[in-house]
Amino acid sequence: MSGRATTEAPTTEAAIVLRGAEQHYSTPGGVVRAVNGVDLHVDRGECLAIMGPSGSGKSTLLALIGAIERPSAGSVEVLGTELGSLSEEARADFRRRHLGFVFQDLDLLPFLTAAENVAFGIGVAEAADPLDPREALARLGLAAHADRLADALSGGEQERVAIARCLAHRPELVLGDEPTGSLDAASSDIAIRFLVTAVRALGATAVVVTHDPLVAAHFDRTIVLRDGSIVDGSVFGRSGSSC
Ligand code: ADP
Ligand code: MG
Repeated sequence: MSGRATTEAPTTEAAIVLRGAEQHYSTPGGVVRAVNGVDLHVDRGECLAIMGPSGSGKSTLLALIGAIERPSAGSVEVLGTELGSLSEEARADFRRRHLGFVFQDLDLLPFLTAAENVAFGIGVAEAADPLDPREALARLGLAAHADRLADALSGGEQERVAIARCLAHRPELVLGDEPTGSLDAASSDIAIRFLVTAVRALGATAVVVTHDPLVAAHFDRTIVLRDGSIVDGSVFGRSGSSC
């Protein structure tokens, strides 16, 4: 891993520990329990897939783990930090320093090359010890495309540029919400293989939402959500340690 000094020294081997985590939304129709009492333990270095039908709470669970939402109840501990007690500003800082996000909506700048897009991402993250943009692209199998405009790349290649951008600042935890959801099966498979390989090489942890069992098959473990609760898959990591 990187030699960055951080104030948040890891206090546990777990990357993620959720205990009775809940996220409620008030709507005109009443309170929606988008995440409803989730216990979950993810080891450092583990790659976890989250599946479940539309509306089952996958994105909301990812938003809790990603310090975007603050839990309505229960606890969410990520990389040794209890997120529920952090202010909005501290959560933003935590995201910037420790997390990498990759979504279906890529947000690449079309008039920049692949390498320039990755360099731009590194600049936004103010990374202390980033990968060289070309090295990051090479890890996603894109060495030959570094100087091509993002616009001139295929959808699958653009997704891999977005993954390289997400990984270039060496995040400890990579979060993806259906990152390959708009790709054909072959392109999706290639992108996810590269993603998982690169995450492992960096010693990072990954949590990725997908509706595709072929994508989930590349991960160490899959949990399935329904109505905001885990209904299938082990809630414990490889170490088997309890919450
Ligand atoms: P998924 O990602 O599995 O499709 P979501 O996490 O997006 O599910 O949503 C879970 C439930 O929470 C759904 O019923 C959705 O309508 C509701 N929900 C999500 N975000 C909000 C919000 N900001 N306000 C109100 N309801 C929301
Ligand atoms: Mg979703």
